[in-house]
Amino acid sequence: MTRRRVVVIGAGATGLGVGVDLATRGIEAVVVERHAVGAGTSGRFHGLAHSGGRYAVTDPLAAAECARELAVLRQIAPGALEATGGWFVRTSDDDAFEQAWLRGTASAGIEVREVPLDVARAQVPAAAARARRVFWVPDGVLEGFELLRGLVRTLRRFGGDVLEGSEVIGLVRDGARAAGVVVRQGDREVVVGADAVVNAAGPLSGVVGRRLGAEVPVAPSFGTMLIFADRRLPLVVNHLERPSDGDIFVPHGETVILGTTDVPHEDGEALPPSRQEVARLVELGARFVPEVRTWRPMRAFTGVRPLVADPGAGGPRGLSRSHTIVDHGARDGIAGLFAIIGGKWTTYRLMGEQTGDAVASYLEVTAPSATRSLVVVPARVRGRAPTSSETLCTCEGVGRDELVGEGSLDRWRVEHWATMGPCQGTFCAHRLAARAAELTGGALESEALDALRAERARGVDAVAYGAQARLRALASEQRRWWGWGS
Ligand SMILES: Cc1cc2nc3c(=O)[nH]c(=O)nc-3n(C[C@H](O)[C@H](O)[C@H](O)COP(=O)(O)OP(=O)(O)OC[C@H]3O[C@@H](n4cnc5c(N)ncnc54)[C@H](O)[C@@H]3O)c2cc1C
Repeated sequence: MTRRRVVVIGAGATGLGVGVDLATRGIEAVVVERHAVGAGTSGRFHGLAHSGGRYAVTDPLAAAECARELAVLRQIAPGALEATGGWFVRTSDDDAFEQAWLRGTASAGIEVREVPLDVARAQVPAAAARARRVFWVPDGVLEGFELLRGLVRTLRRFGGDVLEGSEVIGLVRDGARAAGVVVRQGDREVVVGADAVVNAAGPLSGVVGRRLGAEVPVAPSFGTMLIFADRRLPLVVNHLERPSDGDIFVPHGETVILGTTDVPHEDGEALPPSRQEVARLVELGARFVPEVRTWRPMRAFTGVRPLVADPGAGGPRGLSRSHTIVDHGARDGIAGLFAIIGGKWTTYRLMGEQTGDAVASYLEVTAPSATRSLVVVPARVRGRAPTSSETLCTCEGVGRDELVGEGSLDRWRVEHWATMGPCQGTFCAHRLAARAAELTGGALESEALDALRAERARGVDAVAYGAQARLRALASEQRRWWGWGS
């Protein structure tokens, strides 16, 4: 039999997870991405490696999946995980919920230990100030960019590839079978032929499905997160209550992220954060970490969850965080077309394995999934080695010689965290654009620079106040006046 080829649409956690799974079965996997790797939700999430504790009462299936997959991730991606541990902090007198949570964590197989209040207050006073009881769980921090890079490397090692800047606009059919996709790359349209097609376009999988002639039951849900300067908490801190808005803090690098909201959002594309949501998040966070009112917000950002639609769920908080695989052969009469929706970053591998099973069975490939024991990000020494060249991004310490290859501000953001530090690109974005122009022999990347500054401004404008807000408004007005973009 000739080697089978599958096109996977979307280079987020899900698409890359599917691609790696197929590649390890000996199938050629080509992941096509309209922008860059991690441009969607997988580069804009909270960073929690879920123990499953958050879903122990309301979503037992998702809780058990997270608990099992976190154990697998510790083996296959230790270099992308930080084992901070997490606390569930109870502030209310709701005994019934606490009992339900303890039963739920036990049946999902999640390790729980009570932390005596005097110990909690001595260890992390900010998180224990209002606590009535504190429980430890094995939550951690997931470094999404690190894992995305590991998945791309692994995919290529097994003969697969990622085509960035390639937007899928249609399906190629051979009678009732999917035979590839039509892709727009800049000004040209090309056909990528395949024996099967997987739609892993996350919150946009409904939009992509319609382009391919198939309905995908996705219910996009929009969330805002707020980043504070300084790592104010050493571990994840959850509010012990039903999952709700503003109920979790996750330390990330030198920052802490507070999240999130959960708003239905048909469109699937992320909206800018609003000042109202930021103010509301701070008040919600202060219910269990009162000190948050005094922390300095650095930036807000947003992402869209690709949840599985369920009309009986009564809104996004009622929707399961588990996943579904849609076989459009059975559903819409297009054999060889599949979609994978829902799930969490934490469960990307399981989603890849189950999608791989469905596609391999369709292609009559018998090789089993190998991803459960395949290391994608080995353990590594944390921290960045000092650069020996001129430093272009001072906050993250990114040197000129590290910025190589096809210059792209967005790719360097994912690869090196360039522009992601406290200055948010204010001092370094133009230096990076000049470096990109130098590498490509082109003119200064003014469009890319404007796009990056506009993206950064969306997040900073939502948290700026007082003199900083007035200065930002003035600068934006000046740019508009001189025609330099908003
Ligand atoms: C606010 C928020 C917080 C979250 N926090 C956590 C957390 O702490 N821990 C956790 O485990 N999970 C978390 N999640 C969930 C997790 O981030 C998502 O489930 C996961 O990232 C979805 O990945 P994906 O690959 O399905 O989608 P995406 O990452 O969005 O990838 C889809 C890709 O498809 C591409 N695409 C779209 N249309 C086309 C087209 N026509 N052609 C080609 N490519 C296309 C997009 O550009 C995108 O790159 C969070 C989600 C949100 C919204």
